[in-house]
Amino acid sequence: MPAIIDLLIKTFGKDHLLTHDEAADRVASNWRQHENLDCLALLRPKTTEQISKMLQICNEFDQPVVPHGGLTNVVGGVATKPGEIALSLERMNQIEEINVQDKTVTVQAGVVLSDLQKALADQGQHFPLDLGAKGTCMIGGNIASNAGGLQALRYGVMRNLVLGLEVVLADGTIISSMNKMMKNNAGYDLKQLFIGSEGTLGIITRAVLKMEDLPKTRCTAFIALESFEKAVQLLQYAKKHLNNGLTSFELLWQDYYTLMTSSPSPYSPPLSQTFPFYVLMETHGQDAEKDKILFEEFLEKSLEEGLIADAAIAQSQQELDWFWGIRENVELVFSVHSTVFLFDVSLAISDMDAYIKKIRTELQNIWPDLHFYSFGHMGDGNLHLFVSCGDDEASTKHLVEEIIYKPLQQIDGSITGEHGIGLEKKSWLHLSRTAEEIQLMKTIKKAFDPKGILNRGKLFS
Ligand SMILES: Cc1cc2nc3c(=O)[nH]c(=O)nc-3n(C[C@H](O)[C@H](O)[C@H](O)COP(=O)(O)OP(=O)(O)OC[C@H]3O[C@@H](n4cnc5c(N)ncnc54)[C@H](O)[C@@H]3O)c2cc1C
Repeated sequence: MPAIIDLLIKTFGKDHLLTHDEAADRVASNWRQHENLDCLALLRPKTTEQISKMLQICNEFDQPVVPHGGLTNVVGGVATKPGEIALSLERMNQIEEINVQDKTVTVQAGVVLSDLQKALADQGQHFPLDLGAKGTCMIGGNIASNAGGLQALRYGVMRNLVLGLEVVLADGTIISSMNKMMKNNAGYDLKQLFIGSEGTLGIITRAVLKMEDLPKTRCTAFIALESFEKAVQLLQYAKKHLNNGLTSFELLWQDYYTLMTSSPSPYSPPLSQTFPFYVLMETHGQDAEKDKILFEEFLEKSLEEGLIADAAIAQSQQELDWFWGIRENVELVFSVHSTVFLFDVSLAISDMDAYIKKIRTELQNIWPDLHFYSFGHMGDGNLHLFVSCGDDEASTKHLVEEIIYKPLQQIDGSITGEHGIGLEKKSWLHLSRTAEEIQLMKTIKKAFDPKGILNRGKLFS
């Protein structure tokens, strides 16, 4: 047994470590669960102090460590090599304090997102991060990935929802920055460096998060549109006329809507499949009577003025699940097509239509039988693209990536709006960041983790 494993077991006891063979029963990733974990060992700390000591030891041994949250990352961010140690936050899953008066909640990093949402809902409170992986992803992973999700339009991304953080650096130093204040300009806002750092700068152990009153109303509609331009107008109209209640504005191109509402999908189409665009729109509010009336009036007016072609309002929890299932059940794409490349680009709303037309045409010119699906958080300027062109050869993937990523540079877009860089997008980072920005990122990495033990080889080489 390697000396470091002996030392870790002696220091923390066997209960805190799974050996290579024990860890091999687990999946390597909860996204496409194809492979089992193949690591040197998996650490399962219960406290920040244990993580500090574990990292001290790993740093002394120059031992690479991969932080593991809920393992729902889709860009290889949690990929763990045979010689690497995985450090799972799964046992640090306590909600420490819910402060209704100050609207803050203090959590350990291993709390599962949906568990936090349920615990807060019991107290009439709401943590407004919502994503398809909510039943598995953890707050630490959400912070490390600066998760966005389905309500970012109204409440912002994780970066806007974190007030304070506790982090352990690679050498074991504990940085406690558990700020609870909205305003604090005493020096650099260090927490922002760790948010979205993809486990490369430190292990996030605890956080202070903002919360909201639980919305009393949720109005949701599927809307059919004749053109992209109408979707842009509808978004502007909704922002103006829905009393700041607009929470989600998800655009689905016809291909995706049709796929998600045809066999073998469990979902029937709430609206005919003949329209080029569909919007799934939702508002949150506090006034049960007025919100519903406002929402219905808004849709009626949009119909009268020719902004929208048709609409269906969800009338029950069952219909809410149906509507959101159509948008969220992306696994279906993978069950229908054997090889699929997934993208999450960001760009100005005004560039979206032309961009999608351009890359669709270029891809179809090379692969005439291609399947191309586009949909996503239009209101946030962030789209998901699924491309299936028949094989998953590295050269095919590279060519598809080139077609999708390169035009983004000319329009000041980003190769990733949510999922991050991980391993998958490392070689394209230069399209979204200048050489000087990347150099500064490397300088920060070196200062925080001189031996490069944390998520070695992720984000940049
Ligand atoms: C079905 C599905 C839907 C999704 N929808 C969205 C969406 O709408 N919006 C969105 O933004 N993302 C989405 N994702 C991606 C993913 O769920 C998010 O990135 C999520 O925030 C990851 O959380 P996690 O706990 O699973 O982190 P993991 O996958 O475990 O880790 C993510 C990264 O953070 C690091 N990390 C994990 N925990 C810590 C920690 N405590 N300290 C330091 N580093 C850590 C890991 O090393 C890795 O690099 C989706 C994924 C799936 C499978």
